[in-house]
Amino acid sequence: WREVAGDPGAALGLPPTAPAHDDSLQRRHEVLAEVQEHYYGVPPRIERGWRELLIDVEGRVYLDMVNNVASVGHAHPHVVAAGSRQMHLLNTNSRFHYRAIADYADRIAATLPDGFDTVFFVNSGSEATDLAIRLAMAATGRPDIVAMREAYHGWTYASDAVSTSIADNPFALETRPEWVHTVDAANSYRGRHRGADAVRYAPEAVAVIDGLAASGRRPAGMIAETYFGNAGGVALPDGYLREVYAAVRRHGGLAIADEVQVGYGRLGEWFWGFQQQDAVPDIVAVAKSIGGGHPLGAVITRREIGDRYRTQGYFFSSTGGSPVSSAIGMAVLDVIEQEGLQENARVVGGHLQRRLEELGERHDLVGAVHGSGLYLGLEFVRDRETLEPATTETAAICNRLLERGVIMQPTGDFQNVLKIKPPLVITRASVDVFVDALDRVLS
Ligand code: PLP
Repeated sequence: WREVAGDPGAALGLPPTAPAHDDSLQRRHEVLAEVQEHYYGVPPRIERGWRELLIDVEGRVYLDMVNNVASVGHAHPHVVAAGSRQMHLLNTNSRFHYRAIADYADRIAATLPDGFDTVFFVNSGSEATDLAIRLAMAATGRPDIVAMREAYHGWTYASDAVSTSIADNPFALETRPEWVHTVDAANSYRGRHRGADAVRYAPEAVAVIDGLAASGRRPAGMIAETYFGNAGGVALPDGYLREVYAAVRRHGGLAIADEVQVGYGRLGEWFWGFQQQDAVPDIVAVAKSIGGGHPLGAVITRREIGDRYRTQGYFFSSTGGSPVSSAIGMAVLDVIEQEGLQENARVVGGHLQRRLEELGERHDLVGAVHGSGLYLGLEFVRDRETLEPATTETAAICNRLLERGVIMQPTGDFQNVLKIKPPLVITRASVDVFVDALDRVLS
């Protein structure tokens, strides 16, 4: 994009655009390989789960601090009953109009602002973001997509092409198709804009989008994780999405929100990611939480966008949103609402964040605690001045936690950051068990 847009950051007085993570690609892979070696000698073989607990084949009980997919916890009775009932009634997709699917589509649409009246069901988050990209391309008749650096959107062709993280996609930088254009991540964990506010860097992303349009490549859309999951569990700064969405729309493109990771309650609202930003997208991709662990994803958009896609291509998924998945998805939304799990994410998440911050005052290894609700990032550093990542120490901490019955592991690009994202049903007592175990391990 630099060829197209020059270096817009320079005009704003920002440091050179060479992103730090591109330069250290080789080193990153070495670190990943190093860390793997330090990982769990013998990982536990989990057999069953209940709420935020997991039980292995030996009967040992673990606290699950990482499973963001099991939104309402493991084996929630209401979800199990709804899925089993539907299995008895009907579990097949075809071209007819099935009651469970139609009811669930209405329910999903009702969680979004007015106008989101078209729902496509798929089986996973990758399929959802992939379809969202194709919808934008078909609706605008254009091929170009803008993505944010350090993001993860999935493993299918289109979702992988816009995934700019390194750990999940080692070849992304070399093989990125020419229709993908990247802008620097907003306030990512180790990015150039760490801690920056939107006013400082949103204009840079806007300049890239304007530059693309000026060169005759008006983008079909921009895809963004509305909360930085992969890059360490960091919230986007206020105003960023609003400004970049506006730029994309000025050129006739569409805004795609990837809410796969945080949508439906993790941050204390159905869609905190874009609600907080006051930036309503045109297309929303969701998965993970909505299926409560069952394979289920959805793309929600407005009729005119969905219809344009239908007239140009054909969407059909044999198992996407099957009657059983839909019944489970409906039950998951019921549980989130009836058990007040959004509130729980805010209250218990707030308690967890305060306890971790307090831990940081006593243990030098803790670099920072960031994030929101029940998606927090806990960074370990060897030195608070240089912020040298404590990667092998982090692996050791996870191993010691495992010995104490806590399942925790770093994922994504930063192996010195624990992304803490337990099931939304987690209690204050379980959070205390986790922090006390971590305190002892750090001591
Ligand atoms: N988008 C985001 C933000 C994700 O975090 C993920 C998975 O981690 C995906 C998309 C892909 O979802 P799935 O693993 O269900 O294919």
